[in-house]
Amino acid sequence: MSAHRNYINGAWVESAAAPIVDRNPSDIDDVVGSYAAADAAQTRRAIEAARAAFPAWSRSSIQERADLLDAVGGRILARAQEIGRLLAREEGKTLKEAVGETMRAGHVFKFHAGQALRITGELVDSPRKGVSVTVQREPLGVIGIITPWNFPIAIPAWKIAPALAYANCVVFKPASLVPGCAHALAELLADCGCPPGVFNLVVGSGREVGDAIVNAPEVDAISFTGSVETGRALAARAVAGMKKIQLEMGGKNPLIVLDDADLDNAVECAVQGAFYSTGQRCTATSRVIVTPGIYGRFRHALLARTTALVVGDALDETTQIGPAVDAAQLKTDLDYIAVGQKEGARLVAGGERQPAPKNGFYIQPTVFEDVHNQMRIAREEIFGPVVSLLRARDYDEALATANDTPFGLSGGICTTSLRHADHFRRNAQVGLAMINAPTAGVDYHVPFGGVKGSSYGSREQGAYAVEFYTRVKTVYTNANIAG
Ligand code: NAP
Repeated sequence: MSAHRNYINGAWVESAAAPIVDRNPSDIDDVVGSYAAADAAQTRRAIEAARAAFPAWSRSSIQERADLLDAVGGRILARAQEIGRLLAREEGKTLKEAVGETMRAGHVFKFHAGQALRITGELVDSPRKGVSVTVQREPLGVIGIITPWNFPIAIPAWKIAPALAYANCVVFKPASLVPGCAHALAELLADCGCPPGVFNLVVGSGREVGDAIVNAPEVDAISFTGSVETGRALAARAVAGMKKIQLEMGGKNPLIVLDDADLDNAVECAVQGAFYSTGQRCTATSRVIVTPGIYGRFRHALLARTTALVVGDALDETTQIGPAVDAAQLKTDLDYIAVGQKEGARLVAGGERQPAPKNGFYIQPTVFEDVHNQMRIAREEIFGPVVSLLRARDYDEALATANDTPFGLSGGICTTSLRHADHFRRNAQVGLAMINAPTAGVDYHVPFGGVKGSSYGSREQGAYAVEFYTRVKTVYTNANIAG
């Protein structure tokens, strides 16, 4: 099988290194494709190409950029079934979720096509007579984009689209587990006429390709989404190189269920938030904090829904929960389940590999109870379909428990009390507060990001993306001159 190539300076480029073999986590005998692994030298060429393309691209018209992004968005939407199928095959989320993610990527490109047309500045009077001041936005230059495997098309889209909309050039390194979607996106950008060097794809390891991007002086900014460990290490080097940086990292997202909650909705929020996409979402619900008046009924209904979930091949229409992404993530999930049992938490659903007809990384949706908030399963991100039930005396204790975490990405509350919903909205230490809605599942046109250990730097997505992908210049004009 010939390897799909990297895209550097407008050309598809071979590599001498052993290719990355992309396998289907629902059936590891199914090879999705083979992808050329770039090395540090090729990454440097991609960076140089981006640097060389920047002067012309930074002067491109807003119409040119809007047209490019609109065309890419349109093509993604038109091919959502096909790309969604590829996504489900390489990442393992269900076909429905994968098509939904692909549609979202298309909408992200279309949204930022519009944003390219809306770049504004400010005209400000000066205290000095005859002097005016303008504040104008400018592109940063070359952006290094490094993404995780769990949203292989939406996350690249929500970084690449605003980077290009605001006239930056891009060097994109996707996670090594999901080169297929990255390659599909690169093909669309190339087909839609993205000028050579403006967008470059370099598939390859974090250590080699990622490091080369982060260490390159010609890269002006890094937008990273991934684990806390990688993000922190990378940030230290990026800051040493005086780069602008944005990090989106992990979560340990709480869902509070109060006595007065709508029971069916609360159970649905917990099930969707904890288990959909196999729990492999930074916004996944991992701690459900429940007050005594509803605990028994909630627990009963949650376990009934959990044990009825259909785990299986991501491409099977009846599947609700796909496999873990790979053997390492499956092992992490099972190891944490063992840790939880050792810590004294009570396993009340799942906890084992799911037997399945195909050779995939299937795991049962898992519920622990009798969990207290200092246990490792309540503090560390698992990134699998494992949820903990915690008890709280009342709303105040539930909120304190929810906030007692090093993370702060998403958090939710299920209640019919306006007073509690409003208090939660103001006092939850999160970037995304969900009221009677799952902790996961967000819109593409509004800001996304967290607080505390979950995020660093300015927000992603929506109109707020302009903060990261541009800088401002203040221009003073003195009209007090003769002539
Ligand atoms: P990861 O292991 O940190 O990898 C993320 C990216 O960084 C990958 O492309 C990886 O490349 C690259 N990388 C690894 N080492 C690097 C280095 N030394 N220099 C530069 N780049 C390097 O994370 P993951 O396992 O792919 O993703 C799961 C994590 O992402 C979870 O913690 C999840 O919470 C987080 N996440 C956060 C958000 C959010 O918006 N907050 C959204 C989605 C996911 P390789 O693939 O080649 O190792």
